[in-house]
Amino acid sequence: MKHIQPFQVFPIIPEPLSFLDTLSRNLWWSWQNDAKELYKRIDPKLWEKSEQNPIVFLTNTPKERLEELAVDGSFLAHQKRIRDNFVISVLQKLDKPDSPFQHNDNIAYFSMEFGIHECIPLFAGGLGVLAGDHLKAASDLMLPMTGVGLLYKHGYFRQFLSQDGMQQEEYPETDLYKIPVEKALDLSGKSLYVTVNGPNGNIRARVWKLSIGRIPLYLLDTNLPDNPPEIRDITANLYPANQNKRLAQEVLLGIGGMRALAGMGIFPSVVHLNEGHSTFAGIERIAQIISKHNVDYKTALEIVPRSTVFTTHTPVIAGHDVFPAEIVKPYLESYKEELETSEKEILSLGKPAWKDSEGQFSMFILGLRMAQYCNGVSELHGSVARKMWSHVWPGKPVDEIPISHITNGVHVPSWISYEISLLLDRYLGTGWNKHPWDPAIMNRIDGIYDEELWHVHEMNRTRLIRKCRELMIKQYEKRNTPKMIMNDVESVLDQDALTIVFARRFATYKRSHLLFMDPERLESILTSKTHPVQIIFAGKAHPKDQEGKDLIKFVIRFAQKPELRHHLIFLENYDINTARILVQGADVWLNTPRRPFEACGTSGMKAAINGGLNVGILDGWWCEGYSEERGWRIGKGEEYFDSEYQDNVESQALYNVLTDEVIPCFYDKKSNNYSQVWLSKMKESMKMAMQNFCSHVMVSNYTKHCYVSSAENNRNLLLNSAAEARAHSLQRERLRSLWKLIRIEPPKRKDQGPFRVGDTVNVSTEVFLGEIIPEEVDVQVYYGRIHSVDSVTDGKSEGMIVEENLGNGCYIYSCAITCSDTGRFGLTARVIPKGDDWIKNTQDFLTWA
Ligand SMILES: *Cc1c(COP(=O)(O)O)cnc(C)c1O
Repeated sequence: MKHIQPFQVFPIIPEPLSFLDTLSRNLWWSWQNDAKELYKRIDPKLWEKSEQNPIVFLTNTPKERLEELAVDGSFLAHQKRIRDNFVISVLQKLDKPDSPFQHNDNIAYFSMEFGIHECIPLFAGGLGVLAGDHLKAASDLMLPMTGVGLLYKHGYFRQFLSQDGMQQEEYPETDLYKIPVEKALDLSGKSLYVTVNGPNGNIRARVWKLSIGRIPLYLLDTNLPDNPPEIRDITANLYPANQNKRLAQEVLLGIGGMRALAGMGIFPSVVHLNEGHSTFAGIERIAQIISKHNVDYKTALEIVPRSTVFTTHTPVIAGHDVFPAEIVKPYLESYKEELETSEKEILSLGKPAWKDSEGQFSMFILGLRMAQYCNGVSELHGSVARKMWSHVWPGKPVDEIPISHITNGVHVPSWISYEISLLLDRYLGTGWNKHPWDPAIMNRIDGIYDEELWHVHEMNRTRLIRKCRELMIKQYEKRNTPKMIMNDVESVLDQDALTIVFARRFATYKRSHLLFMDPERLESILTSKTHPVQIIFAGKAHPKDQEGKDLIKFVIRFAQKPELRHHLIFLENYDINTARILVQGADVWLNTPRRPFEACGTSGMKAAINGGLNVGILDGWWCEGYSEERGWRIGKGEEYFDSEYQDNVESQALYNVLTDEVIPCFYDKKSNNYSQVWLSKMKESMKMAMQNFCSHVMVSNYTKHCYVSSAENNRNLLLNSAAEARAHSLQRERLRSLWKLIRIEPPKRKDQGPFRVGDTVNVSTEVFLGEIIPEEVDVQVYYGRIHSVDSVTDGKSEGMIVEENLGNGCYIYSCAITCSDTGRFGLTARVIPKGDDWIKNTQDFLTWA
């Protein structure tokens, strides 16, 4: 068949209900429990059947039912309540009086994936869900943010299992009529398209728009009828294994994304690159600034990084994309002219700092070169990342490597159960979720009656079990399971048993095998008559990860034992929907990664806001979240050289914590039908997660530490024909030509000691600055505890001042440092440039004595 003309037939929605359609086209509904309830009350079964997709749902709702509701006063009142809230939360153009941003500021947030709701399959896992939560929180906080991503034809795969537990992958096609995308328009009101140069001609993409509350999310899509198949294919799937395709996607996201924004007249004042995939955006932004502000390449290079945030999520070097420079070149060809610089210069922006890096192009390195604000996603990950990338700044102490951390958080309204949120409405006041970080509000959780919280939690657990049964029945039917086993499936799990959930990707470092290291011990835990325990597994293995798939198979086989079938189940197709059900009903959220590979982890936070208790290895966020009043740790944060040995030790520790602590605590019910200690831990866990690990706190931290100063930098640097940026560029050139001549003598102490606490040590040194003048540099004493012969730990620096100008560019610098602690210390001295962090962190501008 050729020349097929598509057309769509929309349902007739009676006028009084027209808001239902409006609501379905902004994903704001997806984090309003009240709005979901509105749809649900139209027809709860049909709502489930439509997979909670309001567009599909409204199409399927019979006309008669809608007509009935159009005159149903109570339904209309419910609708009005939501419409009023929608107007305030989404439509009203409020100039926030206390906003640190100006009206034309715009923060562009780039991510390869966005997980917003299960009906929009644009994500693979945690990274995407985090990005979705980020946009939702930005909407709640009324930040001037714009999301940029790709629209995938197939998204990530749907997982189902064969009879013997082998993972099968399905790639259903996304039907654009079933998701609330609309065409993005250019400045003249026409459909917006962008083109980027490819190795075989231009790559053309259409731009779509999704509305996430107040935040527009623009998505690029190459699946256009006029594009040749290999171009249409670029946005077919998330994370293709083929390197060329991956590169094309990343070019499209970064360069195409920036062009899409420009096509709508948006020139962001801040760019946030969520992981390295989108870092090409920096190069295109340089080109845009050059042409818009009439500056040269070097000047633009002083502007872009000072207003760019780069978040890294991967604590292993091999996890970052590195492409052969040869295949990157054709995409960057046109920039030679636009940036008026050489190909070599452009490629050097992504050149790794390790040995033999000639001919390689690293997306992470490009991110570092493009962003002054670089961060990991938990405290531990920040320090791991500083170590991992310290080779980029030879000579710089590891704790000064300019990678900080902002711990991830989860969007509370998206993950909290309806019942818990109603409970909090009653005890905390209805505005609680606008200020979840406020201890004054959150401490009211202590006032909730124990039996009431327990009752609500049990309802959530019951729902979890019901959903598990429903989902398993569907899954088993698909596998053509014999009738006898089907009967069994309908009654899996126990409403009252301690329910542990292990839901995460089946990647090796997540170590789902840890629970199975001693199968007999696990079996005896699961089959206890007095203290029954049940475990729910869920998670996908990467299609190419045979080891991960084998693990799933192992779990399925293990769960097939008749005596375990009721206590251990595997739910297929872990996605946002299953995640929501699981985090809301779990008693225990189990996490056993190999430290320090879990950069942060967020699913445990989702469980915690619902009163679930975490049992986990001290890795990622749990290092910050753990304390004994709110959960359990496995081990004490040890790291091992021998991973087999580590698995043995830690699996024993896991069994021990379960049998000695978790299980007895849960069943310590005394006269109540719940354990008092457990309940107090639930409350502590909820308070902890709301206050410290919610996305509002995360986004506020980005705002405070990165966005506000980025926007200011951008503004100031561009003022007066970019005068400040030009000055930075000249100064950098000057330092670059003169820095090599700087010499600094080892510092001398005036007195030789011994010193006592409180004494001052007077230090002086001779510095040769050549043509550079003292106003251009900081000379510092650097001191700390001696770690080995040639390094100190916890180093501190103290500024030195010119004591004497010896002439000919030579100076005596001196200062006094105070001995504030006892122990063995070492000191030395160094010269760094004066100025802001971006100039200070220049790789070569550091000279030690
Ligand atoms: C929250 C979430 C994740 C991330 O969880 P981790 O703790 O990082 O494993 C992954 N997938 C889905 C569907 C989620 O909702």
